[in-house]
Amino acid sequence: MPEAADDVASVGRSTSDVLASVDVAVVGGGPAGICAAVAASRLGAQTLLVERNGFLGGMATAGLVNPIYGFGYFEPGRQLVAGIAEEVVQHLRQIDGGTLGHRRREECGTCDSPEQCRASGISSLLPFEPEALKLAAYRLASDAGVELLHYCLADEAVVHDGHVRGVRVSSKNGRRLIRAAVTVDATGDGDVAASAGVPFEFGISPGRLVQPQSLMFRIAGVNHGADRLCFNVEPAVEGVSRFLLFRLPRAGEYVVNCDTGLFGLDPLEPRDLTKAHTRAMEAAFSLVGWMRENVEGCEQCHLVSTAPQLGVRESRRILGDYVLTKEDVLGLRKFPDGIARGCFPLDIHVLTDSPDAKNPLTPLPCGQYYEIPYRCLLPRDVEGLLIAGRCISGTHEAHASYRVMATCMALGQAAGTAAALAVSHHLTPRTLDAGLLRSTLREHGVLLD
Ligand SMILES: Cc1cc2nc3c(=O)[nH]c(=O)nc-3n(C[C@H](O)[C@H](O)[C@H](O)COP(=O)(O)OP(=O)(O)OC[C@H]3O[C@@H](n4cnc5c(N)ncnc54)[C@H](O)[C@@H]3O)c2cc1C
Repeated sequence: MPEAADDVASVGRSTSDVLASVDVAVVGGGPAGICAAVAASRLGAQTLLVERNGFLGGMATAGLVNPIYGFGYFEPGRQLVAGIAEEVVQHLRQIDGGTLGHRRREECGTCDSPEQCRASGISSLLPFEPEALKLAAYRLASDAGVELLHYCLADEAVVHDGHVRGVRVSSKNGRRLIRAAVTVDATGDGDVAASAGVPFEFGISPGRLVQPQSLMFRIAGVNHGADRLCFNVEPAVEGVSRFLLFRLPRAGEYVVNCDTGLFGLDPLEPRDLTKAHTRAMEAAFSLVGWMRENVEGCEQCHLVSTAPQLGVRESRRILGDYVLTKEDVLGLRKFPDGIARGCFPLDIHVLTDSPDAKNPLTPLPCGQYYEIPYRCLLPRDVEGLLIAGRCISGTHEAHASYRVMATCMALGQAAGTAAALAVSHHLTPRTLDAGLLRSTLREHGVLLD
């Protein structure tokens, strides 16, 4: 809720209520937030990264989501996304067992058109060890001089005269204020923007249907070496009709990605999240038992852990100055204010239990990309706020492509860079020159035309 001016001022007078005053506050330490904070801090902004968990990584760690998609890697020296996202990979490489590096899909590059694509438009993947990503993210942030603040949930934007001045955070010690010249909402769910009154979209009509949630889990003891195994079978486990195994760096370890047949749940609603999480936990144990009986190479496999956090693919899509569409994505559109590249297919998991429901994966042409304009990071109706990661401004269909982690990292770097430039030039993010943003991003390793 927007806050009255005198309330902000009175909070400011009581120093015990102010936890921090910074140039840039980044809320959410997932793939987008990490890169946003590192980018802002490197440009000289005093930067605080607020994360409700006790570690960084978001879905990549708390959600056990693997591998990283969206780098568009085809061969050494030829990839579509770099910048801080690629530095994450370099940090992972320095950690024993941190990553297998960029892996090109074997099937990729063997077709003439997206329609013939045998790799479903997924050219490459980056398997990584989730615990190593926690460390890599921490090292990157600390080398860049980012101040980390864990165990705080940002629950309300502080808005004064249409300008976001920071956020209120809740911790075991109560609610306090973080003042910031610019705030970056990298919460995945757009919590800060929504609480500031920015309009948003949620799923598709009718029914506000969002992509289903999944609880990723980790197994070991698999006698297989493939990077990715896809099972289009009915494994006699309630709700599960198809599942995927993704290889982790350590031999015999995989994560499992499966939908569990619960549709129409609201990922912002605790009761629905609880229902999805508990059903998925049952499914994980049953599926491991089924795999031991039925899948070659899995006879000795066992469950290592389920993800601490349910995987939420889609929730609020915050409306910004531009709304990226399916036509932009599939038309490989470029923009004068393009700040990040996307190359992942439109990957929409089935939304209902209708027998006709399909998982339409629409590939982009090999080696090609679309751009995401800076305007998708500028939430409508407020100043002083940027959005980054999966909650940026786009349609349900476009989101199904840009939601992957390398793209979210690129969006984060752009948001953090914009935030720091706005502070140093005494501008709001909206009045910042997109040309300056683009040239600064290029100077910092971002691949843009
Ligand atoms: C099941 C599943 C499978 C997927 N598979 C893949 C895949 O194989 N490859 C791929 O590249 N992508 C995949 N994705 C997509 C990808 O993981 C996400 O879209 C991506 O992680 C989004 O990044 P983000 O930084 O925007 O948000 P998140 O990763 O969700 O990070 C948000 C962070 O903000 C924190 N946070 C949230 N709210 C608050 C708050 N109010 N206050 C403080 N902190 C807060 C969270 O704890 C979290 O750390 C998958 C997603 C799911 C759910």
